[in-house]
Amino acid sequence: MRAAVGSSAYARLVQAIGGGQRLPRFRLRFPPTLEKRYAADTAAARHRHALISGWIALVTYLGFLPVDWLLAPDVFSRALWLRVGVFMPCALVALLAFQFMPEAHLRTPRLLREAIVALSGVAAAVTLAFIIHWGHQPQMAYYQGGFAIIVVYGNVVQRVRFRWALVFSATVLGIHLASILSWPDYPVDLRPPMMLFVGAMALFSLLANHNIERDERRRYLLNLGEAALLEDLEATHRQLEALSRSDGLTGLANRGHFDRCLAEAWLAAEAAGTPLSLLLMDVDHFKAYNDRYGHPAGDECLRCVADELARGLQPGRNLVARYGGEEFAVILPGQDAEGAARVAECVRAAVQALELRHEAAPATGCVTLSVGCATAHPAAMRGSGTAMLVAAADGALYRAKRQGRNRVESAPGDACGS
Ligand code: GH3
Ligand code: MG
Ligand code: MG
Repeated sequence: MRAAVGSSAYARLVQAIGGGQRLPRFRLRFPPTLEKRYAADTAAARHRHALISGWIALVTYLGFLPVDWLLAPDVFSRALWLRVGVFMPCALVALLAFQFMPEAHLRTPRLLREAIVALSGVAAAVTLAFIIHWGHQPQMAYYQGGFAIIVVYGNVVQRVRFRWALVFSATVLGIHLASILSWPDYPVDLRPPMMLFVGAMALFSLLANHNIERDERRRYLLNLGEAALLEDLEATHRQLEALSRSDGLTGLANRGHFDRCLAEAWLAAEAAGTPLSLLLMDVDHFKAYNDRYGHPAGDECLRCVADELARGLQPGRNLVARYGGEEFAVILPGQDAEGAARVAECVRAAVQALELRHEAAPATGCVTLSVGCATAHPAAMRGSGTAMLVAAADGALYRAKRQGRNRVESAPGDACGS
């Protein structure tokens, strides 16, 4: 995983891991906050796993009854009582509680949950030790191998967390040693191999347990990283999309977005049978403004006018765009010609009221707008398009310019000819 900069989701994750990019090789613990999240995120899956493994292990455990019958016939009745009368009911209570009260199980502290699972293995080891103790017959020497199976159950089948696996393995090995050492007649030549066998199984299953947990944690981290990168990608995509729609100088919609919105508004008005109005505006004598105050001041002036337009024109409902240069456009969905002229006049007056000094403007001495309005009824003029509406508003704008500027002119009748 690559490191990332800034406050992206990925950067936050890297920070939560502790600034590094990967887990240290032998550490099976995340920093506290991430560890808590990991425990919560994996709790349901671990619950399912513990349950399935528990049922399989119980059936396997009872499946050894025929072995008792064959190898320890003298104590079979006691083994039967221990396996079926004591162990099985306890295991059933625990498994059924896990099965039918998953919420209660998930609410149980994680340590206790791991302890319950480890205890089930220890209980199996104790019952095995008792059966061996009662029997103590030569053919039962191989029963000691049962402890290896129990160790594998806890470390590999149930996959208790590594720390618990260490405690669990040590406990089962202890019971195994106690069982073998407290059996005075145990075949001497079988003792070391049997201890080695159980010990090696404990060691190998512990290694497997460690690797499983490490891989599980790495996988979790990789998934988190992937999700964080995806989140960042989506955020960047949203930012780029917004950038591609907006004008860099004023922050208003740009020309491309305006064209798309006008086409959409046209179709919507056609479907709804409502009018659609368009305002085209042009800052008066703006070349002279630049000449007088310089282009940076001209830019600032355009920003002020744009802010005023955005403030006054309900941008949620209407679309305000920079049409190009010192020209702006406003789409007014649902607005008829009279309403559009009223809105246009408000906007013109509002910009004049800003009193942005423009000594080169002959009549007013401040920045003003000329506005051309046009209205269409798309439903009544199928086959026409937005170009005619734009041309009509443009015509009205140039009339406003010709007639002295700082004024509103409307295209006559319906802009598209009805
Ligand atoms: P009229 O009243 O007829 O519209 O006159 P005008 O001077 O406003 O129109 P003209 O088309 O002659 O000049 C427009 C000027 O707007 C020329 C151009 O340098 C300036 N302009 C266009 N875009 C920008 C911009 O982004 N920033 C600045 N500062 N000036 C711009
Ligand atoms: Mg112009
Ligand atoms: Mg101009």
